[in-house]
Amino acid sequence: MSITLHKGDLPDGLTFTGSVAVDSETLGLNINRDKLCLVQLSAGDDTAHIVQLDRSRYDAPNLRALMADQNVTKIFHYARFDVAVMQRYLGVVTTPIYCTKIASKLVRTYTDRHGLKDLARELAGVELSKQQQSSDWGADNLSEAQLAYAASDVLHLHKLKTALDAMLEREGRLEIAKACFAFLPIRASLDLAGWAEEDIFAH
Ligand code: MN
Repeated sequence: MSITLHKGDLPDGLTFTGSVAVDSETLGLNINRDKLCLVQLSAGDDTAHIVQLDRSRYDAPNLRALMADQNVTKIFHYARFDVAVMQRYLGVVTTPIYCTKIASKLVRTYTDRHGLKDLARELAGVELSKQQQSSDWGADNLSEAQLAYAASDVLHLHKLKTALDAMLEREGRLEIAKACFAFLPIRASLDLAGWAEEDIFAH
């Protein structure tokens, strides 16, 4: 496993083809208050790239271009949050998207445990540690433990997608999953515009 830290943006010339696993770390869970600190990426090849953003400028054209690249599917776990955060701070609408949490909810109907830790254990045989989850992601110098934790959130998403795709196919739910993924940028916009708590589809 290798982790590369990039300050401010992805370097020129670093490209991803087909799909890339993505996660982000923020100063908290309130999107309008808590700034985006890190965006982690993996091609699913046991390597991770971590972009440490400049929170005063968010000048990251390469990262923005990747998020909007129609030829690269961005694989998230709970895309709704990351997509809203990147829309808010990077000003980019992420697309196309795959979300392992939505896929899990559509096929793992035998459980209500859809956390990344649960999926990694069941579908990839990997034990993830959540110990650094609530650490200070705004620190200038991130610890080795923080970087390893941040990377671990993207290293297994390709494997989870493969397993979940087979289950979606088996249950005949691939099309509804794709439609849900396509709606995610709108769901993120609703969150940012004040409809985070209200289900506009409810009666
Ligand atoms: Mn994370």
